[in-house]
Amino acid sequence: MADVHSPEQRSRNMARIRSGDTKPELIVRSLVHRMGARFRLRVKTLPGTPDLVFPGRRKVIFVHGCFWHCHDCRYGQVKPATNAEFWAKKRTQTQERDRRQQQALIDDGWQVLVVWECWTRQPESLLIPELQRFLDLQNSPG
Ligand SMILES: [Zn+2]
Repeated sequence: MADVHSPEQRSRNMARIRSGDTKPELIVRSLVHRMGARFRLRVKTLPGTPDLVFPGRRKVIFVHGCFWHCHDCRYGQVKPATNAEFWAKKRTQTQERDRRQQQALIDDGWQVLVVWECWTRQPESLLIPELQRFLDLQNSPG
């Protein structure tokens, strides 16, 4: 009469946590720079210390890692096999903090764009168009 046991989750996917990996941010900075938009880096006086700040346009960009900030993509939905509760709590807190900070910026008249790490894997089809749209930049070939 053995009933159904809880399915064994064999997710041996070690969540590869790369701390201090600034590659996505570097990609974004270099693209925006090539588009000719001027920005400041990490303005600490603004909520959340946005990664790129465009004071004249009153726009900010955050570059977020998909795992930490719980992006709705396959990288963001990774469930760590160990310490699941700890990570879930930490990531939820991160998400809530993101929301608060972005709302504070919006309330203060800023426009906010979150660039997700996974976008930087598809610069041509995703990242560049999003940046151009957000920054009101013309398509500039080359
Ligand atoms: Zn993502």
